[in-house]
Amino acid sequence: MIERTLVLLKPDAVQRALVGEIIHRFERAGLKIVGLKMIWVTEEFARKHYPEDLIPIIGRKTLEDWKELGISAEESPEELGKRAHEDLIRFTTEAPVIAMVLEGVHAVKIVRKMVGHTSPHKAEPGTIRGDYSTISMGYATKRGFGGRNLIHASGTPEEAEHEIELWFSPNEIYDYPTVHEKHVK
Ligand code: UDP
Ligand code: MG
Repeated sequence: MIERTLVLLKPDAVQRALVGEIIHRFERAGLKIVGLKMIWVTEEFARKHYPEDLIPIIGRKTLEDWKELGISAEESPEELGKRAHEDLIRFTTEAPVIAMVLEGVHAVKIVRKMVGHTSPHKAEPGTIRGDYSTISMGYATKRGFGGRNLIHASGTPEEAEHEIELWFSPNEIYDYPTVHEKHVK
């Protein structure tokens, strides 16, 4: 039940100087930082992290928002997804990101809960996206500037395993004791 998860503080979090604020939340919750670095990724690498499989999902999320906001779509869901995916790749490479591996009991689920809904306008107050961001995915696609929702967190333990392997080499991940572990073991 002790899991590892990949967290990225995206270019908007770095550029808005929210790195400390966000990391503090994870530390406060008792999650253990076992890997941490700043990296400015290439377009090729961004496409590995956000592969084309995401296109239909992104298209659907944009359309959901547009329906709610009363915006009619002239492009097909596939076209919309493709466009939003390109915006996302451009956004991911516009400044460095902070990449972290966090470890803890049920870490994948707990971190996702702390991160909140993909679209900040639906993220609850108290979550990272809900507290520090005001946009929606629908707005981002309309403006063509990428889904600036501050943070990425692996969605499942399988996704986490794959993403940690992509972002970190084994010698960048550390095993060390923390004071907190005394209370969860
Ligand atoms: N995204 C976007 N437009 C959308 C939906 C998603 O730009 O309509 C971006 C957003 O930055 C999101 C990322 O694509 O975080 C990955 O999407 P996913 O559905 O995996 O959301 P997440 O797991 O990050 O909540
Ligand atoms: Mg995801």
